[in-house]
Amino acid sequence: MSEIPANPGRGRPIWHNIIFMSVTPVLAAILVPLHIYYYGNSWGLWAMFAVFFAVNNMTITSGYHRYFSHLSYEAHPLVQFFYIFIGAGAFQGTVLQWCTDHRRHHRKVDGVEDPYSINKGFWYAHMTWMFHVDPHAGPYPKDLTSNRLIMFQHNYYVWIAAFMGFIMPGLIAWALGLSFWGGVLIPGLLRIVLTQHSTFLINSAAHCFGKQTYTDKHSARDSLIMAFLTFGEGYHNFHHSFQLDYRNGTRWFHWDPTKWWIKGLSLVGLATKLKEAPREEILKARLAMEERQMISTGACATRTAQLKQQIVEAQNKLKALRISYLNAKRDLSLKSDEVKRKMRLDMRLAKLEFKTAYGQWRAFRRQWKRSTAAAS
Ligand SMILES: [Zn+2]
Ligand SMILES: [Zn+2]
Repeated sequence: MSEIPANPGRGRPIWHNIIFMSVTPVLAAILVPLHIYYYGNSWGLWAMFAVFFAVNNMTITSGYHRYFSHLSYEAHPLVQFFYIFIGAGAFQGTVLQWCTDHRRHHRKVDGVEDPYSINKGFWYAHMTWMFHVDPHAGPYPKDLTSNRLIMFQHNYYVWIAAFMGFIMPGLIAWALGLSFWGGVLIPGLLRIVLTQHSTFLINSAAHCFGKQTYTDKHSARDSLIMAFLTFGEGYHNFHHSFQLDYRNGTRWFHWDPTKWWIKGLSLVGLATKLKEAPREEILKARLAMEERQMISTGACATRTAQLKQQIVEAQNKLKALRISYLNAKRDLSLKSDEVKRKMRLDMRLAKLEFKTAYGQWRAFRRQWKRSTAAAS
């Protein structure tokens, strides 16, 4: 991390943030055990906690973040309504403020104007950046201020957040025959504290721990542990490199419940135009990063470039064949199955070529890892 002055030109304190974020964890740590001691444990309240925690986190990751901040897909107005009103109960500020800060975080990442720059310290990036007015804050983006629901949430935020965050879980608990105050405390207060820190980890830990898979030009990291703790947002190096992609974990096995939620919405027609970065670009970025790492520790630059080139060529060939095959399938005048069979065979061969080239790269990389481990 490069050193930049902590809190340059720090603005006046924001007391309601300081008090809320300092007092709520203490209150949760005292009142939840006291409630269980006096009224007994209720699995119903814990089930409510699990549902509220998952749903509320999802409104932040898929709503505040991937939809309103990055516009990585188009959401049905009902989904937007859900994100705006349920999301308010997470007590992470309004959509307008959250997204304005987040877009600046991407534009100015790690710099003085990054609202939660990791270079100002772990705790600053985690939460204390919210304790003072930011002197670098700019105007709100027009696409957000022109959304009437966003402005309604912004103007009546405290009332909406208090109702959604505390009173609604209390009322639902009461309606289910559980304790109203148990609802306010467990799926309410405790869930708010944990949801806040799950999100805060993305700005702090996801800029410190993990791998720089695609680039080392910014501090964001990829980490499976962070992905588990943040509903899939832990593949943060990928996200900062390809911020318009609706996914953070691109492979099917990457833990990214937010991506699955958005995909699920698209299957029932509530989300459309899901944006994905081209897979060639993703691979290109990863190979370039791996090449840089290997060459900087003594790997043969010519051999590395040669192996990389083989992969890129094989991938380009496969892509061109895929496009021709899709065009041939659409071309109704092309009746000959023989031509299409031949094209499928060419594609299989090109895929094999790509896999072989990629396998050679991985073998070269394994050898490099062994030799650097032996040298250290
Ligand atoms: Zn982002
Ligand atoms: Zn970030």
